[in-house]
Amino acid sequence: MKCLGIESTAHTFGVGVVDFNGSILSNEKAVFTTASGGMVPHEVAKHHREVCDTVFKKALEKANVKISDISLISYSHGPGLSPALIVGKDFAKRLSQDNNIDIIGVNHCVAHLTIGTLVTDAVDPVYLYVSGVNTQVIALASGKFRIFGETLDIGLGNALDKFGREAGLGFPAGPVIEKMAIKGKYIELPYTVKGMDVSFAGLVTKTKQLLDAGVSKEDLCYSMQEVCFAMLAEISERAMAHCEKDELLLIGGVGANKRLISMLKKMCSSRNAKFYSVPLEYAGDQAAMIAWQGILEFRAGKRIKEIDIYPYERVDDVEVIW
Ligand code: AMP
Ligand code: MG
Repeated sequence: MKCLGIESTAHTFGVGVVDFNGSILSNEKAVFTTASGGMVPHEVAKHHREVCDTVFKKALEKANVKISDISLISYSHGPGLSPALIVGKDFAKRLSQDNNIDIIGVNHCVAHLTIGTLVTDAVDPVYLYVSGVNTQVIALASGKFRIFGETLDIGLGNALDKFGREAGLGFPAGPVIEKMAIKGKYIELPYTVKGMDVSFAGLVTKTKQLLDAGVSKEDLCYSMQEVCFAMLAEISERAMAHCEKDELLLIGGVGANKRLISMLKKMCSSRNAKFYSVPLEYAGDQAAMIAWQGILEFRAGKRIKEIDIYPYERVDDVEVIW
């Protein structure tokens, strides 16, 4: 049996095909990018409408299957930008109705977690989830993924992108910041950790002020990475100690960053814990994870009553029934 997953919560429109045994057969996507202005929800939705048919066709071709080979359609029902979510939901609904295939909606953030344990050897880790919108430290406890710490304002990806917009680095800025940081040196920036929570807004404001004052972009890139990543290492370590777990799994688009990976590895090895990071292809938004999450929930007996979107659903709203 095979599941076709559809992702459309934010910048990425993705379609992936995954076998019920966990083999990923295809994982195609098209990503909205812009040189300035960031993500405007209606522009993102327009992008998704334009690319959806092509991405869908490619995903079937790569997996070497026809739509009649698909037993389940899974779409990300939230959280995300409503106009973008609607494109994915409508696309999934049409495919399901036209071809008489079961449909299920899943939580995008939960899917980030479960693809992580599918594609790595991690079993029951503390998850450090760092994407555009989200920065959370999560672990499974009493039947739900609980958020032990999170950003009190913006996600780290967005913080990097906001700085990038001011500095004229384009969107997404994370990869550019990583490259520019190599040539930078350290200058002090606000380090804000409260228990297992973090905050980035003050730091972004400070980097803007320093940019206006003529501080080099390279130095700001380097220092932003050092300070923000150290904050993440601190809260991850605290959560691992608190939950008594000895595995850390890094997920989300910012997880592509090599400096972040090396800092977390060091922290883990100093406490004899194992560090895992999700391979690049599965670190950011994509649809294989949506397909896999659909399979997990469908196999556990979940059926949906309404084909709807849930733009604000949190990871701890979802009962872990699988
Ligand atoms: P996601 O929402 O999980 O797809 O992640 C997207 C975010 O990851 C964007 O804010 C990017 O700027 C950020 N990002 C992508 N690659 C990198 C990188 N190499 N270093 C830091 N941030 C990155
Ligand atoms: Mg995401």
